[in-house]
Amino acid sequence: MKKTFFLLCAAVLISSCNKKDTTVAENTDKQFDAYKEYFVDELWKLSPEWASSQGFHKYDSVLIVPNSANDKRVLGFAKVQLDSMGNYNLEQLSDHNKTDYYMMKNLLEGFVFSINELKSSEWDPSGYNVSGSFAQILNGSYDSLDNRLRNFNIKMNNIPAYYEAAKQNVKNPTREHTDLAIAQNLGGISVFETDLKTALDKSTLSQIEKVEILTKSKVAIKAIQDYASWLQKLENKTPRSFRLGKDLYARKFDLDIQSGYNAEEIYQKAISQKKELHEKMYVLADKLWSKYLGNTPKPSDKLVLIRQVIDEISLQHTTPEKFQSEIEKQIPELTAYVKEKDLLYIDPSKPLVVRKEPDYMAGVAGASISAPGPYDKNANTYYNVGSLSGWSKEESESYLREYNDYILQILNIHEAIPGHYTQLVYSNQSPSIIKAILGNGAMIEGWAVYTEKMMLESGYKNSDEMWLMYYKWNLRTVCNTILDNSVHTREMTKEQGIGLLTREAFQQTAEAEGKWKRVTLSQVQLCSYFTGYTEIYDFREELKSKQGSAFNLKQFHEKFLSYGSAPVKYIKELMLKDEK
Ligand code: ZN
Ligand code: ZN
Repeated sequence: MKKTFFLLCAAVLISSCNKKDTTVAENTDKQFDAYKEYFVDELWKLSPEWASSQGFHKYDSVLIVPNSANDKRVLGFAKVQLDSMGNYNLEQLSDHNKTDYYMMKNLLEGFVFSINELKSSEWDPSGYNVSGSFAQILNGSYDSLDNRLRNFNIKMNNIPAYYEAAKQNVKNPTREHTDLAIAQNLGGISVFETDLKTALDKSTLSQIEKVEILTKSKVAIKAIQDYASWLQKLENKTPRSFRLGKDLYARKFDLDIQSGYNAEEIYQKAISQKKELHEKMYVLADKLWSKYLGNTPKPSDKLVLIRQVIDEISLQHTTPEKFQSEIEKQIPELTAYVKEKDLLYIDPSKPLVVRKEPDYMAGVAGASISAPGPYDKNANTYYNVGSLSGWSKEESESYLREYNDYILQILNIHEAIPGHYTQLVYSNQSPSIIKAILGNGAMIEGWAVYTEKMMLESGYKNSDEMWLMYYKWNLRTVCNTILDNSVHTREMTKEQGIGLLTREAFQQTAEAEGKWKRVTLSQVQLCSYFTGYTEIYDFREELKSKQGSAFNLKQFHEKFLSYGSAPVKYIKELMLKDEK
């Protein structure tokens, strides 16, 4: 409430106290708020699965058939909404609505780009897979099991038509996405076999309903199997390359990342950052050599020297049993530190709950944050920690070396305080359905990466070891960017890619192999961490030098986060405007 009042006051001052102008602006803002609600409603009709993942379940029984009629519908939506939005005078919108406006426009332009230019519906057969959204219905707890199963039942009707449309669309797909599509579709059958049967057993549906569902599930399974074997037999003499190519990559970068920098600028920044990090790491590793390697002769290759010191320091790590409690212990320490150093305000009324990751997430990620969705704001925020039970000795040893005593602290800064969790609490305070569903990935990841360096700069657990390990961690985001750009626009070979990650970013071969696979299947996303970080860091330094002694770090952080998960370039624009 207070914030809105303040913004309106600011608007009054800017529009030179002209009462009439303020009223117009207020009205425009209100109109736009109403329009946003309508916009989201329509969006959910186009994408029931997206809606469901955000906690909006009205269209759970709908499975959209991805045919050309549907493409037309999406393009029509984009055109009508872009026209409607053209009627708003941007200058009469509040800062929050202005950023929402930009993000909505970007989404619509992304729809058009995706259908008319990117055309991944033709070359990425893994885009067709129904199991995820059906599993979501079975795993949910938002409604009774019986009701969820009834939606599941109706939704199955379109599965055969869905895969028929997929077969119509797919043309010279990449080999990589074809393999992925076969594996993931066949893997997803278990949802219709085991998971569905377990759910039916627990339900109180009538015998007739149960039989109907089981009969339909057999049709569904057959459609999925048919699609997989169709892909296996597909004569694909001229498969598309998994490399996106320079033009599409540049455009996708602009739309997905929404950065003030373009793809090439960020690539060049990453290249020089890598060089800088190597130099800093060499100084530290050289200094630490005798502490960890005694009289062992130093190798002449600087990168080899760094690697050996890193390997020694990585031996300091916790045990599989204590992995979760170690994380739990650090959360209050981080909170206390942020408070003591006055880095930013942390709302104590929204605690973070550390938990063992739920079964349905098992194996996905070592650590992650589960935040309440826009339709479920008061739910808990969880820090999911992967359990190492059941891992072989070698596997857990290698994992714990990676998340050693130093990196584990940086991980906690990134995921929790003052990284993702803190950013989320702020973003929930400026509630905007648009930012909740279209939150900018580069801003969100960039903030978490930024806080790692900010905490260390402020003196958190400083030691030569800590900085060396931080640089190694940071090198990962830098090399993700270099790899992504080089693979998609510069014909980097697999050998070169693995070499970059293992030799220059000090990664294990298994990690590098996994990253290579990821870069052949995704485009641009790997750049979001480094791009967001660079933009935030550069912006802070720019403000610092502008404001001189008047610069206040806490104020900068709080103001920056008050705009919600908007792209950094818009936050920057609005903050600089307020400067004047
Ligand atoms: Zn060990
Ligand atoms: Zn992150």
